[in-house]
Amino acid sequence: MQVERARELGLCYGIRRALDMIYTATARYGTLQTLGPLAHNRTLLRELQAQGVMQVDAPEDLAGPTVVVSAHGIAPDTMSLLRDRGFTILDTTCPNVTRVQHIAARMAREGLTIVIFGDSRHSEVRGVLGWTGGRGVATLDASAVTDLCATCKTGGVGIVSQTTQRLEDYTSFVQHACAATLAECREIRIVNTLCDATWHRQKAAAELSRTVDVMVVIGGRNSANTQRLAETCAESVETHLVETVDELDSSLLQGKARIGLTAGASTPDSSIEEVEARILQL
Ligand code: SF4
Repeated sequence: MQVERARELGLCYGIRRALDMIYTATARYGTLQTLGPLAHNRTLLRELQAQGVMQVDAPEDLAGPTVVVSAHGIAPDTMSLLRDRGFTILDTTCPNVTRVQHIAARMAREGLTIVIFGDSRHSEVRGVLGWTGGRGVATLDASAVTDLCATCKTGGVGIVSQTTQRLEDYTSFVQHACAATLAECREIRIVNTLCDATWHRQKAAAELSRTVDVMVVIGGRNSANTQRLAETCAESVETHLVETVDELDSSLLQGKARIGLTAGASTPDSSIEEVEARILQL
C-alpha cells in the first residue's frame, strides 16, 4: 500500500497567520475570546481551547478584555460594536477576505447591487454582506441574479465570490447569470475574489485523485473549502471525508493499493500526520 500526499494540503497562509497572531497574543494576554469559531475544524478548536482561546457565539456574551476576530472576518457594524464596548480587538481577518469586503463595499458605494456567490450561512459571507450596506444578496443559484435584475432600480450588478468556492462553479455561475441578464442589465461587473491557496489545494487534489485508487480528505464537515476539496476529488475517484483519525475505517481502504491524501485549509498538521500513520498501520 502506498500513501501519497497532494502537493499542497492543510493549513493555508490565512489560518497560519491567524494562529501566529493568536499564540503571540495568548502569551501576552492569557485567555482570549473569539467571536464565533476561528476555523471550521474541531481538532484545531480543541488545540486552541487548550491554549486558553474560548469561543463565544454572540457579541452580547463577550466578557473581554481581548476579542479575536476570525480569519473569516466580520461586518463593519459588528466591529464598531466591539470597539464601542471597549474591547481590545485582535483582527485576524485573512487579507484575501479583506479584499472581498473592500471590493463589495466600493461597488455598493458606486451604486451597484452586490451578488456574493456563496453560502449565506457561512461566516465569511455574512461578514461580506455587512460591507455592502444593505445592497447585497448571497446565493449559489444564478437564477437569483435574474430575479434581482428584474426588480433592480439601478441597472447595475457587481458579482464577487466567497473565497473558498471552486473556480469551475464560479465560472458556471457568472456565465449563467450573464446569459440570463445581460440584455436587460446596464452593467454586470465580475470580480475574481477566489482564494489562491484554496485554488492551489483543489488543483493539487484534482491531479492526485486522477492517479490513485481512493482519496482521503481530512477536514471539518462544516468547512466550506474541505467540502469543495472532497467534491473535486469525487469527480475522479472514490473519496472519503474524515474529520478525525477515529473515523478512518479499514473497510474504506480495502483492496486499494494507492491512497491519496489531502486536507482542508483549517486542518492542523497533527491531524494529517495521525491519519497518514493510521493508514500505513491499517
Ligand atoms: S482559505 Fe484562503 S481566504 Fe480562507 S483563510 Fe485561507 S488563505 Fe484566507
